[in-house]
Amino acid sequence: MIDKGYFEAKLKDERQRALKTLNWASEEFKDHPMSIQESMPNSGDNEIADAATDTLTMELDSAYQRRASSLLGAIDSALQRLELGQYGTCVHCGQEITQGRLEALPWVPYCITCAQELEVQD
Ligand SMILES: [Zn+2]
Repeated sequence: MIDKGYFEAKLKDERQRALKTLNWASEEFKDHPMSIQESMPNSGDNEIADAATDTLTMELDSAYQRRASSLLGAIDSALQRLELGQYGTCVHCGQEITQGRLEALPWVPYCITCAQELEVQD
């Protein structure tokens, strides 16, 4: 039996964390407003090296953002399943997701077997 309130609180907590990561990543991006212009290799070698560093920073930020926003999506659909009374059931095979797995990763839509079969990353 799934403790709805418990997992709802847990999911909302994780949601806040993901939102913070997203905001943090965009704050970081705001600190580098020149990145796009600097990526244009229109002068000396030093500038190109600088641009490479800036591009790397941007890629790291967007990787963070991608991860946080996909996590956010997973959390939102988990909250939706909770609402519909489908939470804790694998969306692929309909089997129950183990309590331990939900404890560790409360947003996962798949049981461990399906996650491995579909090669999804938690
Ligand atoms: Zn399954």
